[in-house]
Amino acid sequence: MVAECGESSGGQGYDCAVADCLFCKIVAGDIPAERVAESSRTLAFRDINPQAPTHVLVIPKDHYPDLASLASSDADLLAEVAVQAQQVADAERISAGGYRVVFNTGAEAGQTVLHVHAHLLGGRRMAWPPG
Ligand code: 5GP
Ligand code: ZN
Repeated sequence: MVAECGESSGGQGYDCAVADCLFCKIVAGDIPAERVAESSRTLAFRDINPQAPTHVLVIPKDHYPDLASLASSDADLLAEVAVQAQQVADAERISAGGYRVVFNTGAEAGQTVLHVHAHLLGGRRMAWPPG
């Protein structure tokens, strides 16, 4: 896997752009996405195949494959992802009604893109347990 580490990344661990990663390409602007919020270290954009009236993905701009790698490497950045998900929920006006935030992690959970992402889902009633 080819990694491109920026000067600010420090070049350690996974905090680099991975050349063949879909979400790293969205961060870089090489693949278009409907961006709804951005901070220096996080990005929120609409899912291309929405499963609810609001379906936004929130990611760290640096590449971490999954929740385990992000949580063990940079818990502050994980918190920034959660805060941005909550801010987008407010902006989308789904906070009052309730919303769901999901990190699919690993094959059994159905993770298909190996750049950690929080799914923010809302605007309809959610079922439990999930499928
Ligand atoms: P996962 O299955 O890994 O939990 O979630 C990956 C999500 O990325 C899916 O909900 C899928 O619809 C979304 N996705 C896949 N390709 C693209 C893309 O090119 N653009 C956007 N905006 N979302 C994508
Ligand atoms: Zn990536």
